[in-house]
Amino acid sequence: MKKFDFAIIGGGIVGLTIADSLLKKNKQTKIAIFEKEDKLALHSSGRNSGVLHAGFYYSADSLKAKFTRDGNFAMKKFCVDNKLKINYSKKVVVAKNKEEDSTIYELYNRGIKNNVDVKIIDKNELKKIDNNVKTYDVSLYSPNTATVDPIEICKKLEFNLSKKGVFFFKKTPFITRKGSKSFLSSNGRLFYYEKLINCAGLYADKIAKQFGYSKRMSIVPFKGIYLKYTGNKPPVKVNVYPVPNLKNPFLGVHYTVTVNNEVKIGPTSIPAFWRENYTGFKNFKLNELIKILFVEGELFLKNSFGFRNLAIQEIKKYNRKHFVNLASSMVYNFDAKGFNKWIRPGIRAQLLNHDTNELVMDFVVQGDNETTHVLNAVSPAWTCSFPFADFIVNKYILNEK
Ligand SMILES: Cc1cc2nc3c(=O)[nH]c(=O)nc-3n(C[C@H](O)[C@H](O)[C@H](O)COP(=O)(O)OP(=O)(O)OC[C@H]3O[C@@H](n4cnc5c(N)ncnc54)[C@H](O)[C@@H]3O)c2cc1C
Repeated sequence: MKKFDFAIIGGGIVGLTIADSLLKKNKQTKIAIFEKEDKLALHSSGRNSGVLHAGFYYSADSLKAKFTRDGNFAMKKFCVDNKLKINYSKKVVVAKNKEEDSTIYELYNRGIKNNVDVKIIDKNELKKIDNNVKTYDVSLYSPNTATVDPIEICKKLEFNLSKKGVFFFKKTPFITRKGSKSFLSSNGRLFYYEKLINCAGLYADKIAKQFGYSKRMSIVPFKGIYLKYTGNKPPVKVNVYPVPNLKNPFLGVHYTVTVNNEVKIGPTSIPAFWRENYTGFKNFKLNELIKILFVEGELFLKNSFGFRNLAIQEIKKYNRKHFVNLASSMVYNFDAKGFNKWIRPGIRAQLLNHDTNELVMDFVVQGDNETTHVLNAVSPAWTCSFPFADFIVNKYILNEK
């Protein structure tokens, strides 16, 4: 009989760091990670920007604020300890007009409240950091933002956890709950557990609903596409972000200087039509299309949280010229033709609250003595993962005070 103390569903960064945290509490504990794919990190954890955020975007009362700063340091430490790549690439947030200046100050204040190292800089100081970057008047400088290789990190975690006795079951999806403390996977295989931890990303809400959680909330997928620069005059040396709309959880099209010093622009937040709607009809699911079209149609008609405008603005970004143009406004010299390679898109597992018709801004954790469900683990959950996992383990899984 396959029985585990902890059955973790989903082999992304959240599932992996929770396993790591559980092992730190008790080396003997019997943990299994169940992943529906044949490899780990095939979804968000292997398709993100790889940015270790610093922690100034989020209001101080949020879980995002609580864990981003420490998560940034913890992930850097993991990379150093395991000899993995880090690019200490830094970041500036730039404004287009006077109105956006006030959001720069708001971000600065949030950063200070969250105990994050941030600085307001003028145009001269910006020039010293990157002389091709443009702002209206001031900009926000974050020295601790960095970039890493998410796939490399997930592989290392998998290797370390396997060595410590964690069982990995790949191509083994959670399909359905089978009474108490057991679940059914494909080919009728049954697995038993003391506690189940649902870290299934784009499918976390569906699994949670089988246990009576994620009520009145479901995932609306938003696609992030990227263009990579392949020319020989990279426009930026640091990560450059526009001022975001603080009413939604997306940060706007920005420049990322990757761990390998390549430059990419993106990601977008284009409403997707099914959960794994990456390219073409791959992973197409008719039932998902119908449900999502219904939800997105309603949001579009009611223009809830400005969804109609967001959708129209975002869909335009499929046009390379338009997409590239948006990024060009943040720099002086720009080689538009160099941004010509579409790279692996990602999809955000963004939760929608059906009672308010609003996007949920913070991470959500629900559960009881038997199951824990990690919902809305959207950006910056990658950055937050180590301390967020400790928090979930202490507060929700082991119920420690
Ligand atoms: C475009 C984009 C850019 C981003 N950029 C950043 C960034 O720069 N910095 C940052 O901090 N965050 C970023 N994020 C967010 C970050 O990637 C996610 O918060 C993080 O990867 C979430 O990890 P996860 O483990 O919850 O999800 P995932 O990595 O999606 O893992 C969930 C896993 O569950 C598996 N699964 C699903 N259903 C089942 C089932 N029934 N049975 C078994 N397994 C199942 C999936 O196959 C998957 O492997 C970005 C996200 C996107 C989409």
